[in-house]
Amino acid sequence: MKLLDEDQTQLIKEIEELRLQLQEANETIHAIRTGQIDALVVSTEAGPQLYTLKSADHTYRIFIEKMKEGAVTLNQDEIILYSNSQFASMVDLPLSEVIGIPFGRFIPEGCKADFKKLMKSGWTADSKGEILLKNNKDRIIPILLSFTSLELDEGTSLSVILTDLSAQKEAENQLKTKNEQLEEARESIAKMNEELEDMVKERTKDLLMSREYFRYLADNLPVIIWTADTTGKLDYVNRRWHEYTGFDLEHSKTKQSELVHPDDLESSSTAWRLALKCKQKYEQEFRFKRNSDGAYRWHYAQAIPFKDEQGNITAWIGTSIDIDDQKKQLERKDEFIGVASHELKTPLTSLKGYLQLMELQEDLPDPVRSYILKANSSLIKLQRLVDQLLDVSRIKAGKLEFSKQIFDLSALVTQCVENSTIMYPFFTIKKELQENLMVMGNEERIEQVFMNLINNAVKYSPDNRNIVIRSESHGRWAMVSVTDFGVGMSEQDQKFVFERFYRVNGHDHLTPGLGMGLYIASEIIREHKGAIKVKSRLNEGSVFSFFLPLVKEY
Ligand code: ADP
Repeated sequence: MKLLDEDQTQLIKEIEELRLQLQEANETIHAIRTGQIDALVVSTEAGPQLYTLKSADHTYRIFIEKMKEGAVTLNQDEIILYSNSQFASMVDLPLSEVIGIPFGRFIPEGCKADFKKLMKSGWTADSKGEILLKNNKDRIIPILLSFTSLELDEGTSLSVILTDLSAQKEAENQLKTKNEQLEEARESIAKMNEELEDMVKERTKDLLMSREYFRYLADNLPVIIWTADTTGKLDYVNRRWHEYTGFDLEHSKTKQSELVHPDDLESSSTAWRLALKCKQKYEQEFRFKRNSDGAYRWHYAQAIPFKDEQGNITAWIGTSIDIDDQKKQLERKDEFIGVASHELKTPLTSLKGYLQLMELQEDLPDPVRSYILKANSSLIKLQRLVDQLLDVSRIKAGKLEFSKQIFDLSALVTQCVENSTIMYPFFTIKKELQENLMVMGNEERIEQVFMNLINNAVKYSPDNRNIVIRSESHGRWAMVSVTDFGVGMSEQDQKFVFERFYRVNGHDHLTPGLGMGLYIASEIIREHKGAIKVKSRLNEGSVFSFFLPLVKEY
């Protein structure tokens, strides 16, 4: 028991000594850090050793403490004799634990060889080198080490300044990434440029080829072909143009008007100006001068605008076809129709007279009377046809003239509807008429127009037997319309139905005809400064309407 007490007393004494030593060490470190002392005693195996800094200057220490860099002093065994607090926080240890431990502890395994080399050169001369540092929490930090050997009283030491390169390395990495991205972008731009160049080359080649091809084609076609720029100025004429007119491109540019017949010059140039302004297709017939004999021959000219993807006109391409022979042939035909229908009129009139005389005969046998009736009805049809032919040739000759006077259109319509009800007893004709529509015109001719519309409504309605007649005022216009629910016609046919001799394909089986009625009707209405229109749907029916200017005073 006594022995135990002695041991315990001994232990307490030793602990007390150790505590005093620790306190002393802490005070020493504090004194060094704050610059209060210039020397340090370290216990080594060979006994306690005293280390003093050669120029232990107070200002220096403060300065070293305030630096951003870590600073340590190592002895020749690479034991840390001195460390500033920055180094302690770099390695993530309390300052008190950093002093006295080997510096190599903070060097990762893979960098030991490099570190050894650096240290070796550091002992001999001021040197620098980059290395990785591993802190207490195994975080790897890139570091720049700067070595300077110091001659201290107790021998040579090595002062090491450690600059944390993390931020710099990060910046370098970022820069590297940015540079790589930049390089990538540059490469892809270069590639795109190359592709673009290839494309341009290809397009240029295509363009040249298509231009060559166009010229080849244009020069070898038996048609006059030309192109013009966006302002309408000629920039190409084909071989046929050159052969026909005798003008080359330069000559044509300035003297083009000399090629058109003086009587057609105004209408053709107005139409061309209008096409340019409205960016619409140009279409015109005019007489074009032939160089070989100076003859003005009729041509049908067309020009269409070329548009880019945005719809802007880039050029005009025009053609001109010699239609002189066809036109003359048509004129001869018209002349023949005119003469023939005129010549037919006299015998028809006398035929009609003889039939009337026969009708007056009493005690005619019944079959003969019925033959006379049939002959009369055929004669009426024939007369109508001859009248239409005469009208057509009059229109062509510009001689469709008639006297005009003011009359009530609604009264005329009412009368015609009444007649039609008698003529077509199987049809239901509904009237929606506005009274008192005073117009100026030729009553007979307007009746001809209206009856033609009713006759057509009957002819082209094989199944539905309803017809609606309307008349009303529309602003300054009097309007009359005939609606049927018959075969109707396509939009395409509606465009041509008022043209001479036009018949809708497939209507022949319904009724024979020559396609003159609507042409004559439209010319009569045109002569009255009115308009005629059609609205139709295939298999649903049609609405034909005409408009005449109302006479205001009434
Ligand atoms: P046609 O003597 O041939 O009837 P028109 O000039 O009167 O001559 O008419 C021209 C063509 O228009 C006709 O052949 C016919 O095909 C078409 N047409 C005219 N009216 C109608 C209508 N109401 N319904 C359908 N087609 C019509």
